[in-house]
Amino acid sequence: MPSPPEGCLFCKLVVDGDHVHAADGFVAIRDINPLAETHLLVLPERHVDTFRDVAAFPPDEAARMLQFVAETAQAAGLDDYRVLVNVGPGAGQTVFHLHWHVLGGRVDAEKAAGALTETAA
Ligand code: AMP
Ligand code: ZN
Repeated sequence: MPSPPEGCLFCKLVVDGDHVHAADGFVAIRDINPLAETHLLVLPERHVDTFRDVAAFPPDEAARMLQFVAETAQAAGLDDYRVLVNVGPGAGQTVFHLHWHVLGGRVDAEKAAGALTETAA
């Protein structure tokens, strides 16, 4: 595995974050600025900058990552939920360690609209 960029926030949180769910190679944490009643982030241990580079995951690991997203939602008691990945600054990505947003329950419409329209580009 190539070494992650120095100072990657999510590489750090993979190690010492407050994990609400964890399994081999993946963790889930609470988003610090929730857009919905439940807003979790799934982080792979493997540092990959963006979903654009998803092919950097071996196929079995990519499949486990998707399963882990579903398990995280289930473990949080969610039946119905949204899964979102922002890909690149022009689509609102602010942390460049691939992550999956899992949103359940009541959405904060104003914050969510802001998050979907904001871009860092
Ligand atoms: P994105 O904009 O898709 O890159 O998502 C990054 C997410 O990380 C945002 O929803 C932030 O609220 C969240 N975030 C930033 N810093 C932290 C942190 N220290 N702990 C948990 N979530 C964070
Ligand atoms: Zn990282």
